[in-house]
Amino acid sequence: MIDPWSSAIVNYEKLIEEFGIKPFHDLLGDIENPHILMRRGVIFGHRDYGRIVKAIREKNNFAVVTGMMPSGKMHIGHKMIVDQLVWYQDHGAEIYIPIADMESYSARGISFPEAKQIAIDEYITNYIALGLDPDDKNLHIYLQSENKIVQDLAYKLAKKVNMNEMKSIYGFSGSTNIAHLYTPMIQVADILHPQLEELGGPKPTVVPVGPDQDPHIRLTRDISERFKSQFNFISPSSTYHRFITGLTGGKMSSSKPKTAIFLSDPPELAEKKLKSAKTGGRESLTEQKEKGGVPEDCVVYEMLLYHLLQSDAELKEIYQQCKKGNVMCGECKARAAELMRNFFKDLETKRNNAKNKAKDILN
Ligand code: SF4
Repeated sequence: MIDPWSSAIVNYEKLIEEFGIKPFHDLLGDIENPHILMRRGVIFGHRDYGRIVKAIREKNNFAVVTGMMPSGKMHIGHKMIVDQLVWYQDHGAEIYIPIADMESYSARGISFPEAKQIAIDEYITNYIALGLDPDDKNLHIYLQSENKIVQDLAYKLAKKVNMNEMKSIYGFSGSTNIAHLYTPMIQVADILHPQLEELGGPKPTVVPVGPDQDPHIRLTRDISERFKSQFNFISPSSTYHRFITGLTGGKMSSSKPKTAIFLSDPPELAEKKLKSAKTGGRESLTEQKEKGGVPEDCVVYEMLLYHLLQSDAELKEIYQQCKKGNVMCGECKARAAELMRNFFKDLETKRNNAKNKAKDILN
């Protein structure tokens, strides 16, 4: 059967089997107007997401927590999280966005003022430009270093976590600095603090992450159980999304600029980068006409699937035409590059408009 949503990069089914993550598509039918990333299988797994589906359906309070570590530039893969936040905002969620300046200080040596500046110029600006409504009263963006509620909760929760656990989950060793050792507890508190009485009490909470973050989710869920009698926490839910492939084939990474299209790239550069991306095309045109291309192994197709094409019907058509060898990579790339250029032109304007607003958020 043709599966236009498939990707060959990581064996996500194995992740589901080995770690007890549940397949997301089982819930799809219960969600009214699921997000494009849900529909297309980019969000492939979950833990306890049924609670969130129920909260949305019954219009009950629920929260979404997703942090940002202010250490570098945002690339187009990071857009996936913002797209999901915009969807949750439309569905009435309380949104908490911790800026992990304590982590960037302890793990990367970035000073607090520097982290704040990166958060404003890069992250918050992009979040607003990509559609997050900064004036929503249910949106909470904060610096970890300035959030006393989170810090106090982290300290309390740390009472029931020991060194062996931290070592096995995060690979900490005897030479890890103590500040770094403590930052996972701050992140656990980031996730659980929306359920404190002063913030409205226990509520379903979802954390959208990549599968590499699952150990942290498991720890947070365990800790929420350990403190159930004290805080009445509802164990947090999570969703897992596929990684976006880098331009050269592996994982897209901000620390490897050749792999990434950055959200601050000028439109022409974004277009040029896409034109240089690895495709699933064959060695020769003749071979491609005979055997068809391999969209499952094509960065250009992935960009269309994740970001550039809103119409499922159009995307399916490209997939099928590629598989049948009816379309060649040059033509297909040119079309995707034009969509990319237009997207970045629009984003450039929106980023410029968002800059002042972004400055106000943390003041
Ligand atoms: Fe990718 Fe398009 Fe080439 Fe198919 S035709 S492999 S989708 S660039």
